[in-house]
Amino acid sequence: MDNGAKETRYWHSQSTEGVLAQLSATAHGLKQAEAERRLASHGPNELPETTGRPAWLRFLSQFNNVLIYFLLVAAAAAFLLDHIIDASVIVAVVLLNAIVGYVQEGKAEEALNAIRSMISPQANVLRDGRKSAIPVRELVPGDVVFIEAGDKVPADLRLLRARRLLIDEALLTGESVAAEKRELPVTPDAPLGDRQCLAFSGTLVAAGQGTGVVVETGLQTEIGRISSLLQNVEPLSTPLLRQIDVFARRFTWLVFIGGALLFAFAVLVRGFDWVEALIAVVALAVGVVPEGLPAVITITLAIGVRRMASRNAVIRKLPAVETLGATSVICTDKTGTLTRNEMTARRIETAVSRLSVGGAGYVPEGELTSPDGDDVAALADATGLVRCGLLCNDADLFQVEGGWQVAGDPMEGALVALGMKAGLDPSHVRGEWQRLDEIPFDAAHRFMATLHRAPDGSPDGSYVVFIKGAVEALLAMAAKEETDDVAGRAFWEERIANAGAEGERVLGFAVKHLAARPETFTFETLAGGVEFLGIVGFIDPPRREVIDAVAECRSAGIAIKMITGDHAATALAIARQLDLAEDPEVITGAEVEAASDDDLREIVERVSVFARTTPEHKLRIVRALQRNGHIVAMTGDGVNDAPALSQADVGTAMGIKGTEAAKEAAQMVLLDDNFASIVNAVREGRRVQDNIRKVISWEIPTNGAETLAVVLAILAGFALPMTATQILWSNLILAATLGLVLAFEPPEPGIMRRRPRAANAPLLSPFLLWRVVVVSILLAAAALGIFFFALETGRDVETARTMVVNMFVVAEIFYLFNVRYLHVPSITVIGIRGTPAVLTAIGMLVAAQLLFTYAPFMNRLFDTRPLGLLDGALMVVIGAVLMLLLEVEKVLVRRLGWFAELRD
Ligand code: ATP
Repeated sequence: MDNGAKETRYWHSQSTEGVLAQLSATAHGLKQAEAERRLASHGPNELPETTGRPAWLRFLSQFNNVLIYFLLVAAAAAFLLDHIIDASVIVAVVLLNAIVGYVQEGKAEEALNAIRSMISPQANVLRDGRKSAIPVRELVPGDVVFIEAGDKVPADLRLLRARRLLIDEALLTGESVAAEKRELPVTPDAPLGDRQCLAFSGTLVAAGQGTGVVVETGLQTEIGRISSLLQNVEPLSTPLLRQIDVFARRFTWLVFIGGALLFAFAVLVRGFDWVEALIAVVALAVGVVPEGLPAVITITLAIGVRRMASRNAVIRKLPAVETLGATSVICTDKTGTLTRNEMTARRIETAVSRLSVGGAGYVPEGELTSPDGDDVAALADATGLVRCGLLCNDADLFQVEGGWQVAGDPMEGALVALGMKAGLDPSHVRGEWQRLDEIPFDAAHRFMATLHRAPDGSPDGSYVVFIKGAVEALLAMAAKEETDDVAGRAFWEERIANAGAEGERVLGFAVKHLAARPETFTFETLAGGVEFLGIVGFIDPPRREVIDAVAECRSAGIAIKMITGDHAATALAIARQLDLAEDPEVITGAEVEAASDDDLREIVERVSVFARTTPEHKLRIVRALQRNGHIVAMTGDGVNDAPALSQADVGTAMGIKGTEAAKEAAQMVLLDDNFASIVNAVREGRRVQDNIRKVISWEIPTNGAETLAVVLAILAGFALPMTATQILWSNLILAATLGLVLAFEPPEPGIMRRRPRAANAPLLSPFLLWRVVVVSILLAAAALGIFFFALETGRDVETARTMVVNMFVVAEIFYLFNVRYLHVPSITVIGIRGTPAVLTAIGMLVAAQLLFTYAPFMNRLFDTRPLGLLDGALMVVIGAVLMLLLEVEKVLVRRLGWFAELRD
């Protein structure tokens, strides 16, 4: 069905019947076959992706860097001065750098884009008369869609039903106050912001619930018309990358100044030919600036992002990868994250009777037995409660191959199963007791209420309200009537404590009879006359893999805080089952509220279970932890969790039960809602951090040593140990091979037995600085040593230089193995075996060096000379000795405890 642009503007001024008729749809949704037909004619419900910068522009931007300008000028100068080889080598360096940067940036972007599609949003629709979740892109005009707080409106909808529905339309109207929605049509000329009966694609549901029929999809929606390019591409940047950029820029200036001074010194004091000196200084400058570093770090991050995604943690914002590695506290929900969120009712208790419920999972089979003996009487007494659980309920159970599944909330699904076990037929009961209105569940008030018309002749009166929720909330409603009753607050508190101690999740049930239908159904309707019926205890077993993940966190010095809406006794029992902390302590949201900011700082260190909390408490807890210097990962799923998720260092949204609002505020989304996936992501984050440190500690001394050797030669006035082109060559070849492999390093053994690294640790930590100095001196000494040895033993300066370049390369290979493990000895079986990346890079490097040394054209190009086998052996021995020295240093430095960062 295709509507012209003219009619589409008037969805808001027609009655719902008119709109449905025009769309050839009904309030019961479309048939699947019809939906597929419409999808084929209307196209998918999506906006075209922003096409990033064109490839050529991305390539050109690789040259947009002070150092590259400088190099290009130098190449032009060399060319004009007839140093064609130098000019070509400089150009080759620049080109290679650009290609490596371009390819890696492309790969990183590709990895991020692939991941973005993993969290494609879903919409809840009625298809073939049944509620189901489908990808938003498959929505078609005529589909009936449900929306609730936290959802992103998936298409332009004409509302058929709105319950306290508030939608944040700032995206379209700029209005920061959420707009109130209702079903009634408005005048044809109403401006966008006043079209109360429409919900617009891309806007966020702030509160309430609604149902609407899709009127426009894709580019036809309001948002599609305003701009088809709204999706913005996340910049490929992180705090560390920015730190490196700043560092590189400053360093480049330093190198300019140093280079100018060196040039002046070489020409004026040492009497070098100025062209020679200029080229040598340029080569040195190229050598000393780690121009490839940002690209390698980006690829390290991108690899981390990809590996995290393969283990169900999707990074939405790149900086989270770095922060994850430094996480020192994980604040987590309980239900579904630590536990399986597969509920089964275990007990029913009313004021006078008790029932144990048999069976497992959602299979509606199981005995209801009374420990006191009379099963029939106990069941008769509990039937009112069980029926309340069936009616104050939005879930359905349906049989699939291999078992029963819930559509909706798991606890409500368990109540449907309970009803069936008690002999009630859900669809029959629900048909008899027509639902007229409801107050949806909200974590803030912790209950749900539904208004029903009682079946004719029912002894319950004409209208009945069924309420279910946290027992305290229900008892508070019933309080006035119950104060002196036998089954008063103390009675139920004892019952809850018993169930909670077993790790059971307890839900209360209540009822209120009304003589007449209330005009509106609000909180006031519930005032007075509420009768508490009893409780149901559910089991929700802990996820098995979480037990190991918790243990891993504890050994890694990461504290875990459970922040749950559940009752204290239940939460504590689960914390104990999971061994969350040594003798876990629990406090409630009310106590958090009563504590001052300063007290809270002390509380959050000590306490590991926060029960009966609301999302506002989460925000205070995160802040208190951050004030104590912690890096906090925090999970959340609801619309009200968004502030805490944004405040946390790694806001983590649930992929399955999380709302769009939570996902948008989060830095990371868990595809399986599983706590163990957070811990996997932390481990991966630590690996990324380690690898970045490895890249830096390999790359900088490599540059430093070369520079040191040549600068010493110029200052001391002896022949240069390497020519300018040779310096450029070794840089080029090392950067293209060994320079890339550390990004692929696997985690070191014991990576989760170390304490978290300080978050604000500087790029060049004292240990790295020490490393740079020590290694630069050692490598420079080896290079100069071999240079003078060659000259002493009567070789010409060209052969001596060829030996120096090869010595450098050999030493770099050995040094790479040393750097692969920063925390443990490298000389172990796995340590010296190397990864495929390492071995391939070494193979390529050796082949390139053989060409450099033995191929006649390379001899001409670089002024090199073939070397003897013994010379090669000598270099390997020196390289091995260097590595041994550095291994000894690794052990010594740890033993002496010089650097805090190495202490476990
Ligand atoms: P988490 O550990 O993830 O915070 P939670 O499920 O324990 O999860 P909430 O969802 O905020 O936390 O629930 C808090 C309380 O509200 C529950 O302990 C229960 O008493 C009540 N409750 C939860 N879901 C419903 C529901 N669908 N209807 C009525 N009451 C509910």
